[in-house]
Amino acid sequence: MITFEEALKEILRKTKRLEIEELPLVKTKGYVLAENIKAKLDMPPFDKSAMDGYALRSDDLKSVPEKLKCVGIIKAGGGYKKTVKKGECVKIMTGSPLPKGTNGVVMVERTSEDEKRGWIKVLQSIRAGENVCFKGEDIKKGTVVLRKGMLIRETEVSIASSQGRTKVRVYKKPSLAILNTGDEIVEPGNNLTYGKIYNSNGPMLLALLQNKNIKVQYLGIAADKEKSLMRLMRQGLKSDIFLLSGGVSMGDYDLVPEVLKQCGVKEVFHKIQMKPGKPVFFGTKGEKLVFGVPGNPVSTYLTFLVLIKPALDKMMGKTPPLHICRGRLKEDFRQKPGRKHFVPAKVLEEKGQLHVYPVKKYHGSADIASLSQANAFMAIEGKFSFLKKDSLVEIILW
Ligand code: AMP
Ligand code: MG
Repeated sequence: MITFEEALKEILRKTKRLEIEELPLVKTKGYVLAENIKAKLDMPPFDKSAMDGYALRSDDLKSVPEKLKCVGIIKAGGGYKKTVKKGECVKIMTGSPLPKGTNGVVMVERTSEDEKRGWIKVLQSIRAGENVCFKGEDIKKGTVVLRKGMLIRETEVSIASSQGRTKVRVYKKPSLAILNTGDEIVEPGNNLTYGKIYNSNGPMLLALLQNKNIKVQYLGIAADKEKSLMRLMRQGLKSDIFLLSGGVSMGDYDLVPEVLKQCGVKEVFHKIQMKPGKPVFFGTKGEKLVFGVPGNPVSTYLTFLVLIKPALDKMMGKTPPLHICRGRLKEDFRQKPGRKHFVPAKVLEEKGQLHVYPVKKYHGSADIASLSQANAFMAIEGKFSFLKKDSLVEIILW
């Protein structure tokens, strides 16, 4: 049985980045950039005023208050053609180009209008360069402002816009199909008869994939029968990733791996040294990835986060596949040694450190209710039977 780390590596090895397409910039939120964006412009493109006030020569304000002659006014988007001379100033609005001859701006709040029309009384002196944003101070022309592999958020849309871009190259949106399996599984909203349970994996997976820039196809529930499985698998295998829950363990009716193979899926591995999640099946059909994960909801949730999401991220072009950080365990922890153990935990930031509190009364992989007490999995290597309070442990924050 392969280790968790080997399994993740194997999955990522089989995962190909999707093709690149060019999209209108305003449609790219949630996509990953497939090009470096170089600045064509300095930002700001000219020296500009950071304030509403008066542009002047700082040398004119050796002593204050001082009276200066106001020789003009500049609106944002406008300019002042002449050179401002000694003893003069120009009224200026935020974002307007600084006129020639001046080297700073005094805020309007630090001035008053003189009785003499056209004259201003400046109440405070300024340093050279004060209240000026200099050409190129935010972005220098020619530098890379956005890198390939970055997730495009609202801010990246704005940055590319500030360079005049209207289209960018991104990695295509992946498609993912979900199929839940099990004779006992019933969609919420229907009556439950004895021996049946509601489908909690389907809605959870849909929620995990919501607003994630992924084309999701929900295939519902297949019975534990070859015919039912095969019909729905044929549909699922059209997506870049096909995710099935249930039916991958050792039971007499756990038919998923076998039927997947009949549908042309090549097994890469079946079973991982992890707890929960041991029965995970991973295979490929061409470039398509197929994951059969155990149906207990905690197993489904965990394996999605630590195995399937990294594959999705890689397909979409994102660079770091799985973010594992470390925190201090805040109580002694005991376990049966064996597989790498993922335990639901509450991680809190206390005094600038991440503190990890394993969820109390966690009953194992069916106990989805206990996850409402948690915001992370802590991962403990299988070789340990005991970890002392204050040990550093790996955590995967949700
Ligand atoms: P399996 O992986 O099919 O052996 O199922 C393991 C356990 O998870 C069984 O108790 C199933 O009833 C339960 N289970 C399977 N699929 C789901 C599902 N979609 N929602 C909730 N529980 C499930
Ligand atoms: Mg089952």
